[in-house]
Amino acid sequence: MTLKLIHPSKRRSEHVAAATVERLGSKAVAHVATVERVADARLPTETGEWRIIGFHSLSSAEEFVVLVKGEPRANRASLVRIHSQCLTGDVFGSIKCDCGRQLDAAMKLIEQEGHGAIVYQQQEGRGIGIINKIRAYALQDEGADTIEANERLGFEADMRRYDQCAEILLDLGLRAVRVMSDNPAKIRALRQAGLQVVERVRLEIEPHDLFAGYLKTKKEKMGHLVSVA
Ligand SMILES: [Zn+2]
Repeated sequence: MTLKLIHPSKRRSEHVAAATVERLGSKAVAHVATVERVADARLPTETGEWRIIGFHSLSSAEEFVVLVKGEPRANRASLVRIHSQCLTGDVFGSIKCDCGRQLDAAMKLIEQEGHGAIVYQQQEGRGIGIINKIRAYALQDEGADTIEANERLGFEADMRRYDQCAEILLDLGLRAVRVMSDNPAKIRALRQAGLQVVERVRLEIEPHDLFAGYLKTKKEKMGHLVSVA
């Protein structure tokens, strides 16, 4: 791993972040900022008006896109989602997985609520990248499930990390959150970063026969909190 030199102007935000986290109590562990906010603009969408904010990691080449609705406040619990990029589901409407429908449902729910945030984490295919994901899909065409396919390609079942996503939510000013996720690892990461998770909100996703098997695998092999018939 290469170490990045931190520009002096970044040190101030480190101090601010450290001070913020210390006030959150003993559970907080993020003492040094590892992400930086680099761009911020309006984004009118089909579901309404959002802000789109770009962050980059100070410890890797990873970039994050965050959609923010309303004013994030420390004194109210906002709906949040850490959405892992799924090009096939989010953009092409693939029904091999439920990602696109979850993203749509999360945006609509936040829109109704009037405030909330979605951290769009660019870790395609649970961290293996789009080309390897297509290779995994080819193995799935031959009968492997989503976990077996990743493992046969030499990857762990899930290579994602969520600590920087949680740090971004803190940086936005949020302290308490209502999480739209079935993934216990994401919820754990939010708590470990010092965010108070006051509720897990279930997204109403219209079921589809094609991704029923995928959800069953996530439930049985990855401990996701999905209800599968
Ligand atoms: Zn997907």
